Amino acid sequence: MKIPDNILQSVPKVLLHDHLDGGLRPSTIIDLARDAGYDKLPTHDPGELATWFHRGAGRGSLPLYLEGFAHTCGVMQTEQALERVAYEMIEDMHRDGVVYVETRFAPVFHTDRGLHWDNVVNAVLQGLERGRSKFGVEFGLILCAMRNMGLSQEMAELAVDYRERGVVGFDLAGEEGGFPPKKHVDAFHYIQRENFNITVHAGEAFGKESIWQAIQWCGAHRIGHATRLIEDIGLDKRNRRKIVRMGYLAQYVLDKRIPLEICLTSNVHTGAAKDIKSHPFGLLYKYKFRVTLNTDDRLMSDTTMTKEFKVAARAFRLGLEDLEKLTINAMKSAFQPYNKRIRLIYDVIKPGYAKARLRLAHTKRRAA
Ligand SMILES: [Zn+2]
Repeated sequence: MKIPDNILQSVPKVLLHDHLDGGLRPSTIIDLARDAGYDKLPTHDPGELATWFHRGAGRGSLPLYLEGFAHTCGVMQTEQALERVAYEMIEDMHRDGVVYVETRFAPVFHTDRGLHWDNVVNAVLQGLERGRSKFGVEFGLILCAMRNMGLSQEMAELAVDYRERGVVGFDLAGEEGGFPPKKHVDAFHYIQRENFNITVHAGEAFGKESIWQAIQWCGAHRIGHATRLIEDIGLDKRNRRKIVRMGYLAQYVLDKRIPLEICLTSNVHTGAAKDIKSHPFGLLYKYKFRVTLNTDDRLMSDTTMTKEFKVAARAFRLGLEDLEKLTINAMKSAFQPYNKRIRLIYDVIKPGYAKARLRLAHTKRRAA
């Protein structure tokens, strides 16, 4: 039986890969543009603006997909704007049933009007804190360096400087082609020497080499996307759902339980996957890779965690047990102390799914 939408919405979720500047509410963008005198928006109607972002995202190319960020970053240039966006993100998580979120952004894109990186990170953390005390959603903040820019060492140091305030890790984001992660290896070594956390966008627009570099050169603890890990896996010619050979990299990822931050809808939008059904997620899950489901850019991809659960459940025939497993996978992979992860798994996630199973059984009985 299909899981009803209200149950999908209410089950506890954990989100590890979400871009703060990719999840603004259209109405907030319009408000902030008005306040800041930002005059480059294509429209001032929230519905039309949402459509503009969705259309821009669905063009099958990562560079085209990234165009919308000029506007979201364009209006996130003051402390008030950054605080508001961060706070509303937590409120949106609460509505989406998310109990723990790691959001990420690149401080370098928020200094056009004179803010220093410290002001930027402080403002975002304040918004997240205010959201947590109002809605009870736990969070971690990840700072991104950009592949095609310098300053990765500075961003790594900034992330470590704020580890006591809620920054939990360091990421490398942006266009993959021509910008290999190993060029930023000093920043990653710094993070490793500080006993801190690393995730890297890899294997989305570029092949399995990008994933290999992220893990073996940069010491990534998790991989963002990893869609093209499939290039290291041999499938049965007659049954594409059966693995017949695993390359050393894929075997390593499986054996070391390296978490993969899978973003289904976003991958279809950027062209990393042809459609949801043929996305490698189904195969990776079946063969026990540590996969997690994520939103990536909620605004551009018109998605939420509830929607990601819904499309995954439909395309890969997942039940509540599977969604619980994926949620526990994500919580186990969060950049939080072990005891906090265990507490959220046993006090929040497992009881939440037990309750959802009872509700589903009740719904089935009524339908029978
Ligand atoms: Zn991403």
